[in-house]
Amino acid sequence: LPSKLPYAGTTIFTVMSKLATDEGAYNLSQGFPSFDCSPKLSELVSHYVKNGYNQYAPMSGVPAFRESLAEKTSLIYGVNYDPETEVTITSGATEALFCAVTAVVYPGDEVIVLEPAYDSYVPAIDLNGGVPIFVTLDAPDFKIDWEAVKEKITDKTKAIMINTPHNPVGTVFSKADLDALANLIQNRDIYIISDEVYEHIVFDGEIHHSMMTHPQLQERTFVCGSVGKTYHTTGWKIGYCLAPKALTEEFRRIHQYITFSTVTPMQYALADFLKLPEHYLNLGEFYQKKRDRFNDALKASRFTFNPSKGSFFQIASFRNISEEYDYDLAVRLTKEIKVASVPVSVFYKEKKDDKLLRFCFAKDDEILDKAGEILSKL
Ligand code: PMP
Ligand code: GLN
Repeated sequence: LPSKLPYAGTTIFTVMSKLATDEGAYNLSQGFPSFDCSPKLSELVSHYVKNGYNQYAPMSGVPAFRESLAEKTSLIYGVNYDPETEVTITSGATEALFCAVTAVVYPGDEVIVLEPAYDSYVPAIDLNGGVPIFVTLDAPDFKIDWEAVKEKITDKTKAIMINTPHNPVGTVFSKADLDALANLIQNRDIYIISDEVYEHIVFDGEIHHSMMTHPQLQERTFVCGSVGKTYHTTGWKIGYCLAPKALTEEFRRIHQYITFSTVTPMQYALADFLKLPEHYLNLGEFYQKKRDRFNDALKASRFTFNPSKGSFFQIASFRNISEEYDYDLAVRLTKEIKVASVPVSVFYKEKKDDKLLRFCFAKDDEILDKAGEILSKL
């Protein structure tokens, strides 16, 4: 069968996690916690499963969950989304991103992608006949050169993909970045698709500046989020999209034919659980300790790095250790020293090899210590 995604193999996350399992390696590759979600949350799910909340949820999501999410959003960001018309629950942020791209991108439309970029963006653009236009963020700071972005904007530009905090490089947008972006799209028919799945995982006093907090951006943005990263429930694949009514209408038109609706009992459980801020307010602190624990070990090695500012990933340069292609090194380290990571080149369409590996530190301290000790010898 001819492929609509001829360049796509199996995703790196599947490949590296399988290799880690086969090799009995510490798995710092795919981004998921090695620890469980709160027992309170599991109890809530059991409660709803046992009490008959097991049929289709409404297409746009369980109303109580949409309301909780709107309340939480208003509390944290001071922005009000109408749960009835502006909040949609999806099967993971992946589905939210796909529906948002599908809502705005027509064949031939250009979409600006800042590379390195999470791996689902470009396939979503391609499947809609869009043309990804790349702007490269350079090591070691990966700061956005807004002038470079401006140069790529044409009459065909339909959307810009944003990701803050950033996977894989761990950068966080500043208020000035939001202003620069708002200036760029002023008086233009450009939409923002903003992936903010790591919104609560920011370090060193950084603040997550959601696109919704900038009024000009808010009007044109699909904010895509995930409960997986915040509540240690990546396996539930529950995400959402917050967007103004007109954008949400088109978004839902598509969502209803992609998955129709999202798993029911978890949504009821989350409706209750989101009302407890203690479960997300301390997340930055929780992960900062893990980042520091892991980085202390890495400091003893010849890896060089700037500490991640957000997300649960740390990237590190191995230029002082090896000249191998990053993919080859990631595979070799998994096999030989039993620590799995992700080569950063996979986050570029043209496989740019900056000699960087990505390590996920959403792992039990014991795993971080053992993997860290091994890596410290490199
Ligand atoms: N965007 C980014 C940047 C991610 O790291 C992930 C996670 N894995 C996703 C989107 C997808 O989130 P979900 O698992 O909720 O589909
Ligand atoms: N977002 C996770 C990561 O970056 C992986 C999700 C997936 O496996 N698709 O590792």
